[in-house]
Amino acid sequence: MLDLKDLEFEELADYLKSIGEPGYRAKQIFSWLCRGVSSYDEMTNISAKTREKLQRETYISTLKIREKHVSKLDGTIKYLFELPDGNCIESVIMRYIHGVTVCVSSQAGCRMGCRFCASTIGGLYRGLTAGEILNQVIFAQKDIGERIGNVVLMGIGEPLDNYDNVLTFLHNVNNENGLNIGYRHITLSTCGVAPRIYELAEERLPITLTVSLHAPNDKIRNEIMPVNHIYNIGELLKACRAYYKAAGRRISFEYSLIAGVNDSPECARELAALVRDIHGHVNLIPVNPVEEREYRSGSRREAERFCKILADNGINATIRRTLGADISASCGQLRKKVL
Ligand code: SAH
Repeated sequence: MLDLKDLEFEELADYLKSIGEPGYRAKQIFSWLCRGVSSYDEMTNISAKTREKLQRETYISTLKIREKHVSKLDGTIKYLFELPDGNCIESVIMRYIHGVTVCVSSQAGCRMGCRFCASTIGGLYRGLTAGEILNQVIFAQKDIGERIGNVVLMGIGEPLDNYDNVLTFLHNVNNENGLNIGYRHITLSTCGVAPRIYELAEERLPITLTVSLHAPNDKIRNEIMPVNHIYNIGELLKACRAYYKAAGRRISFEYSLIAGVNDSPECARELAALVRDIHGHVNLIPVNPVEEREYRSGSRREAERFCKILADNGINATIRRTLGADISASCGQLRKKVL
């Protein structure tokens, strides 16, 4: 059976034509799917005959809310969604002045092995389908009853390790007949799968690319991010430059400050020299302690000093505000608990 949300809008239109439906049907059905209906019977402007035809070959996937945690501090919401096969993923709703943002997962688990990250502890179970990624936006929006205006692919998983499904998701979440979220309101975060960064550049989607750098040199990055053994910093930054050139979009770098590992003033100077010619923004994030890991963040003052060194060296940098601190809103922690 086919999940209609795994098809790109154009493929859906082709499929519907192939079963004898008129051209406008795709818009109607896609719009219903993006509103989070769970059965064809809810599609009140579609004839019973057509609904029956659809039911024979296709189904409408849904996500079950298994847990929902609302932060008392800032209204951040963390969902533990259950997939049809019993697997769980996490999505987070964050409220900023410029609107509601959802952080979605791209895989159930992750095989990238970053030492400080909870999502990778049990390894990769499987990549999510395009429909499963889209459903996180659809069902979070349905649950809060407010329009979601921004999407970040920063949940569980490495989006560029599930490239084709993520690309289908990007096209569908942007499609004007459904959620209609502009590419400029979408951010994709990667740990640095360099060949896929070149591929993504070729798509020329005006999304924001964020690269999880976390270290100013290969020695430190090799220690905390195994992916660096395959694509080192030199190769990664080369791919970033190509992306900037092709897509015309500035790149952001994520840098989790880990006490005694990558947070010295010397690291800050080295980092500044490394990213200067890319004109990217550096997001500093005090590392979130994960139970199984020994990493801790330093003091606020040390983070500010690190940030100031970057600024003094001409780098645009900010320390990320923490949201949802009371509900372990950073990803991977809830899923791990229920597994
Ligand atoms: N796989 C993608 C996206 C998922 S993680 C990537 O690596 O970019 C989103 C961000 O959170 C990444 O920058 C990741 O490195 C960071 N992160 C993971 N665990 C963290 C922790 N314990 N503390 C702070 N940041 C963390």
